[in-house]
Amino acid sequence: MSKTQNNSQTSIYRGRFAPSPTGPLHFGSLIAAVASYCQARAMKGEWLLRIEDIDPPREVAGASDEIIRTLEQFGFEWDAEISYQSQRSEYYLDALETLKGLGLLYPCACSRKEISKINSLGIYPGTCRTGLANGREARSWRLLTESVDVAFRDAIQGPQQFSMENEIGDFVLKRADGLFAYQLAVGIDDALQGITQVVRGSDLLDSTPRQLYLQQILGQQMLGHPHPDYAHHPVVTDAQGEKLSKQKLAPALPLQQVVEQLYRALSFLGQQPPRTLLEADRDSLWQWSIENWSLTKIPRQMAISIEEIDKMTAIVE
Ligand SMILES: [Zn+2]
Repeated sequence: MSKTQNNSQTSIYRGRFAPSPTGPLHFGSLIAAVASYCQARAMKGEWLLRIEDIDPPREVAGASDEIIRTLEQFGFEWDAEISYQSQRSEYYLDALETLKGLGLLYPCACSRKEISKINSLGIYPGTCRTGLANGREARSWRLLTESVDVAFRDAIQGPQQFSMENEIGDFVLKRADGLFAYQLAVGIDDALQGITQVVRGSDLLDSTPRQLYLQQILGQQMLGHPHPDYAHHPVVTDAQGEKLSKQKLAPALPLQQVVEQLYRALSFLGQQPPRTLLEADRDSLWQWSIENWSLTKIPRQMAISIEEIDKMTAIVE
C-alpha cells in the first residue's frame, strides 16, 4: 500500500505474480508464476503476490486460499504481505477522480452489442465522446485515447507499437455493473507497488499499452512512479490451440507432482533443465532454476501447445 521507492538506479528489482481467484492454479498459471519468480530471484529482487479479486461474479469461493496453498506447496516465497485488490478500492476511486478532473474519462451508454454492430472487432467507435445522446443513461466510464500512440520494448517479444484509438479504442475503466475494470486496477497497482518489471503471459500483451497509457497519465498526478518494464512469455495452448484457462476448466496443478510440474514449466520456458533434476527434491530444483535462469532463453513465441511440451520433456509418453 505504501508509495515506496522510486525506481531509480539504487532501487532493487521488484516483480509480482497476480492470479485471479476464479479457480485453482493450472499449468498455464504455473508458467507465469515460475517465470516471474525466477526472474525476480535471479535479479536478487523481490517478488510480490497480489490476489486480483475485483470481479466477484467470476470468483469461486475458496479459490484465493487454494491458490495460496498451492503456491506454498510448490515452494514459492513472497516478500511482503499478500495484497488483495478488493481492499484497494480507494486507490482506484482516486484514479478515476483524477482522470475525470483531467477531462479524460467520460460516461458511455453503449452496450457491447451496440458496439459490435458498428465495429466487428468490438473496438469502441467513440460514440459517447462528445456526451450522451438524449434519453441515454451512463453505463460505463471510458478513457479517452484520441490520437494516442504507445510504444514499448518487450523484453521477450521485442518492440511493440499500438495506435490506441484505432487498435484498442477508448477502453472501460469502470464497468456497467459498477465494478472497477481489470485494466485500471492492474495499471494502478503495478505502479503504486513499485513493480519494476512485469513478467506475464502473451495473452496480456495488448493490455500493456492500456496500462502504460494509464500509468503515463497518472504518473504525474498521483502515482509518483515511472512505469514497469514488461516481458510477455508464450502461453500454453491445448490441442485445439486454445489458451489453457480457468474458464476453460484447465485441470488444477497436481500437488503430488511438484518437481515434475516445475520441470515441465522450466522446459516450456526454454531453460533446458537437466533430466537429473527430475530425481532431485523441490528445493534443489529451485536452486538450479534461479542460478541458471535466463530470460533470453524464453522462446520468442506467443503460444506453445501442451503437446509440444510433453514431447520436449517426454515425461508423458
Ligand atoms: Zn458509448
